[in-house]
Amino acid sequence: MSANQEPPPAECDLAVVGGGIVGLAVARELLARNPGASLCVLEGEDGLGRHQTSHSSGVIHAGIYYKPGSLKARLCVEGARELYAYCDEREIPYELSGKLIVAVEESELGRLDELERRGVANEVPELRRLGSDEITAIEPNATGVAALHSPRTGIVDFGVVAAAYADDVARAGGTIHLGAAVNGARPANGRLNLSHARGNTAAGAAVFCAGLWSDRLAVACGAPKSPRIVPFRGGYLELPPAAAGLVRGNVYPVPDPDLPFLGAHLTPTMDGRVLIGPSALLAPARDAYRLSTVRARDLGETLAWPGTWRMAARNWRAGLLEMRHATSRKAFAAEATRMVPALAGLEIRPGPAGIRAQTIERDGTLVDDFVVHRTERAVHVRNAPSPAATSSLAIARLIADEMTATMVA
Ligand SMILES: Cc1cc2nc3c(=O)[nH]c(=O)nc-3n(C[C@H](O)[C@H](O)[C@H](O)COP(=O)(O)OP(=O)(O)OC[C@H]3O[C@@H](n4cnc5c(N)ncnc54)[C@H](O)[C@@H]3O)c2cc1C
Repeated sequence: MSANQEPPPAECDLAVVGGGIVGLAVARELLARNPGASLCVLEGEDGLGRHQTSHSSGVIHAGIYYKPGSLKARLCVEGARELYAYCDEREIPYELSGKLIVAVEESELGRLDELERRGVANEVPELRRLGSDEITAIEPNATGVAALHSPRTGIVDFGVVAAAYADDVARAGGTIHLGAAVNGARPANGRLNLSHARGNTAAGAAVFCAGLWSDRLAVACGAPKSPRIVPFRGGYLELPPAAAGLVRGNVYPVPDPDLPFLGAHLTPTMDGRVLIGPSALLAPARDAYRLSTVRARDLGETLAWPGTWRMAARNWRAGLLEMRHATSRKAFAAEATRMVPALAGLEIRPGPAGIRAQTIERDGTLVDDFVVHRTERAVHVRNAPSPAATSSLAIARLIADEMTATMVA
């Protein structure tokens, strides 16, 4: 266990707030660049990676979807390559299970063309267009009019990857402190004073990688109010164990380019299950893993944010469909059955759930790319949605560069 039972230090050179996969990758990178610096990670929960890191689909994305030239496009392709190399080096199990993006109807071919164009522009390795008759050679039970095949898409347990990053941090002399939720940060006398559940730490500089809570600390440090985090609950379904052999790898629908995270995909997990999902439903708490979890502050902030209402007005049709998916197992499973008809009639059961930190601008725009803000002596990761787990090693380099700029500014 890499976490330190000692209370966080009163002083350190560098602090990282948030012990998810991004915070731990950043801590690791900062120590590699600043050997001998004192660094502490402050994590609010009693364990590492308890939120998005351990509630994801576990897919190592290859970089197909993202707008060429965006941070996501660059950092996903680089990050996936580095992540495979890291897993090899650290002997972390992963599977190159591959991915098929299946156009079931002719009307989806234009969007599939655009995905292919993006994938080629992003230099996704080994991406290939398949005709209808070539699909079954990859996925014997899938059907469609055409597909894209990405053999370099894989699966991994991101919780295991985060734990390995934490070991690297501890080995490099960093300390990791649990139960240290940061509730404020104030620059004074050339330091950033962090107040947290286990006391106070004065850091030379800090990086905030607080995932679902990232906007609160950023705004408290003087960053712009927009964008804000609006939590969306992503519920999964699960195939019965006896049917897990019906799919070999990841099978995805062609997404709506405006709402690329919607649509049920089939994903094998490292422990041999096959998940369908996730859905996307506005959540009444940033940790609403259970439907009954409601937090007044979270709900109040979501409802008070003008962007929530503007986003809802613009996407009400998709919202209604997602509500149906979240409430009807049959309707949601039917989405996956379009691509793999052999799923029809199976006893599909409820699976796990994750909460997505959806970042929304004041005008209702859903923020797609990774976003980083700087305040005095601090760097804030404001938007690190999927594929941030895949991209974690590459994002860490970007943040470390930002940190250097913050220190010399
Ligand atoms: C349903 C779902 C499916 C996904 N699928 C994939 C996928 O297949 N592939 C992929 O690459 N990505 C996927 N993602 C995205 C990926 O999980 C996230 O991008 C990634 O985990 C973000 O990591 P993080 O460290 O920024 O956030 P988190 O993992 O949420 O970590 C943030 C940490 O900060 C801590 N924290 C918060 N506030 C404070 C505070 N005040 N003080 C101290 N600590 C604090 C939290 O406790 C937490 O440990 C998925 C996400 C979801 C929700």
